[in-house]
Amino acid sequence: MPGSLSVATPNTAGVAIGAIILLGVPGAGKGTQARRIADRYRIPAISTGDMFREAIQADSALGRQVRQYLYSGELVPDDLVTAMVAARLERPDCRAGFILDGFPRTLPQTDWLYRYLDRAGRQPLPGPIVISLSVGYNELYRRLSGRRYCPVCHRNYNLFTQPPRQPGRCDLDGAELLQRKDDQPDVVRERLAAYERQTLPLLEAFRQRGKVFEVPGGEDVDHVSAGIFAILDGRRQGA
Ligand code: AMP
Repeated sequence: MPGSLSVATPNTAGVAIGAIILLGVPGAGKGTQARRIADRYRIPAISTGDMFREAIQADSALGRQVRQYLYSGELVPDDLVTAMVAARLERPDCRAGFILDGFPRTLPQTDWLYRYLDRAGRQPLPGPIVISLSVGYNELYRRLSGRRYCPVCHRNYNLFTQPPRQPGRCDLDGAELLQRKDDQPDVVRERLAAYERQTLPLLEAFRQRGKVFEVPGGEDVDHVSAGIFAILDGRRQGA
């Protein structure tokens, strides 16, 4: 495609990339970028928001515990989140690395994660790479209000920036696209407020532990991916 950036797949055989933490306000594109990173480096993208939504859909015990928080846009209590993440990180597909999308979101979750990664007995991995996606408010509003997802394959679309080929239908499986309950205006406001209150201070905590890579998330999706891949490829070569 003319003008597209070079994103050749690196040789990933046998190289452990470690934990990749994606930070960014809701709507910054973390989910889309997490899936692209997952494809390129063959590591799982772990979205705590998706895990909670799946639990709610399945009406599991966890789903019933967290439903009220998701529907109001508030954060789920830390102990429920860390227990769920711990169980997920124990799975063998996380051995070479994993992407965290939407976690950690509070200081206690951040402390918990660093303790978990340092824990004796775990296969040593390179230190976490923190990538912060920044987006201006107007662009953010457009993204959140236009966001749709496929309930079958969980692919994300945006009516403005990444529309499906056929209106209202998933390109991959033809399922009817849905809007998340928490992308409705009142809930969006509370989610943005929760982010400012609880998650922005995390940037400082991450900076104290190492470098935070800032990537402008307002560009088109391919440019944002190319910026992230350049950081991750550089880290792997330097590792
Ligand atoms: P997300 O899809 O990442 O925006 O998450 C949707 C909702 O799930 C949030 O508004 C919270 O209610 C809950 N949630 C997801 N991740 C976390 C987390 N790390 N800590 C607390 N609550 C979370």
